[in-house]
Amino acid sequence: MITDNQQTIRNAIGKQNTTLIAVSKKQPDERIEEALACGIRTFGENRVQEAATRWQKRRAIYPDLKLHLIGPLQTNKAKTATELFDVIHTLDREKLAREIVKHRADIPCFIQVNTGDEAQKAGIALSDLDNFYKWCVNDLKMTICGLMCIPPVDAPAGLHFGLLADRAANLNLNGLSMGMSNDYPLALRYGASHIRVGSSLFGERQS
Ligand SMILES: *Cc1c(COP(=O)(O)O)cnc(C)c1O
Repeated sequence: MITDNQQTIRNAIGKQNTTLIAVSKKQPDERIEEALACGIRTFGENRVQEAATRWQKRRAIYPDLKLHLIGPLQTNKAKTATELFDVIHTLDREKLAREIVKHRADIPCFIQVNTGDEAQKAGIALSDLDNFYKWCVNDLKMTICGLMCIPPVDAPAGLHFGLLADRAANLNLNGLSMGMSNDYPLALRYGASHIRVGSSLFGERQS
């Protein structure tokens, strides 16, 4: 099943230079093994502890694994996160940036942007983005590879993908982490460099 699903997604990506992040959170072990057997090596997780349980041992077996943190990161887990993950997609505040730098200044990070200006959602406000980016790069010497967003559920996602793409272009950033199971084809049209796909690849998650 994962083979076919992967093919569908890869067909949508076509010749674009886009990385498929297989979002493995809450998936049973059989499916993780199936994905690995299909040759998938790039995975996304949204919780540090769950990711450690799932991937720490497999790291030794699959040296070419790439793990992306796509969920909110608490500062007290920053150290573990920098040890376990290759890329962090959810850099969203100064305190977290400082904490990441303490442990691993050069870990590639995406800045999460709250494109819908939602009170309950993580992410840097659009109005703070440019200053935050400059501070991360100039003062903290961080490796910022791009921008990430999760569009509001009730809004046209294309609006948010387009906005994120514009802001990334203004900052000369190539990385655009956007698009999930139900909107990745649209994100691809707006130039996503990384799509984060869970259920459309693995099947529905365990609750
Ligand atoms: C869970 C999750 C995904 C994947 O969601 P699907 O709809 O299953 O593809 C992508 N991005 C983030 C930030 C997530 O938390």
